[in-house]
Amino acid sequence: MSSQEQSARTRAVAVIRVLRRETAALPKPMGTTMVFERRTLFQLLVATICSAQTRDVVTYPVMRRLFRTVRTPKELIAISEDALAQQLYPISYYRTKAKHLRAMSHMLIDQFDGQVPTTMAELLTLSGVGRKTANLVLGEGMGQSEGICVDTHVHRISNRLGVIRTKTRAATERALMRILPKKYWTLWNPLLVMWGQNICAPISPKCSQCAIRPWCARRGVTVSR
Ligand code: SF4
Repeated sequence: MSSQEQSARTRAVAVIRVLRRETAALPKPMGTTMVFERRTLFQLLVATICSAQTRDVVTYPVMRRLFRTVRTPKELIAISEDALAQQLYPISYYRTKAKHLRAMSHMLIDQFDGQVPTTMAELLTLSGVGRKTANLVLGEGMGQSEGICVDTHVHRISNRLGVIRTKTRAATERALMRILPKKYWTLWNPLLVMWGQNICAPISPKCSQCAIRPWCARRGVTVSR
């Protein structure tokens, strides 16, 4: 590890220590909430797919309604694609997601005996599942860290902090895996999601109220509150 990466690691660990304390009273991201509610791995997988490019406040109530009747792949494919799309509205891309969810459920039944697979390689074979979804299900649902779940908040804030310098989410995951100790791989996502939802907003972040400002390079931030 280079001295630059070592310095980034030291700052990232300091940020984790502060954010653990500062986020304790904030509403938890949907993935964490689903685990807390003891949802099934299948439900966590469905919710994570549905949450792509949709805010938790929109996705979560839809999932709660859907999960009154859907706990397994078999129960999901019992709903027609049109009816499922209607149930997913107003989640973004609800028609595409309905199609993916049904295809994914069929694959689980046909290839995995109706169970959610437990490796990254297997999860990535499922319709609608990319590394972000697979990392979240493995980390939050199974306590396994094969990678780091990078969503828009993680990508944006990690770069603003200056602990990495990347252009794409894939590069962000690789860079974070180099600097973050593995024991923090699952934690980095919910901490930064909560911070992104409440303080480090995409536009005009609240830097004047930010507890991690001493460790932040504020890279790319031109307007803040
Ligand atoms: S100091 Fe500003 S840019 Fe840095 S993490 Fe805090 S809110 Fe975001």
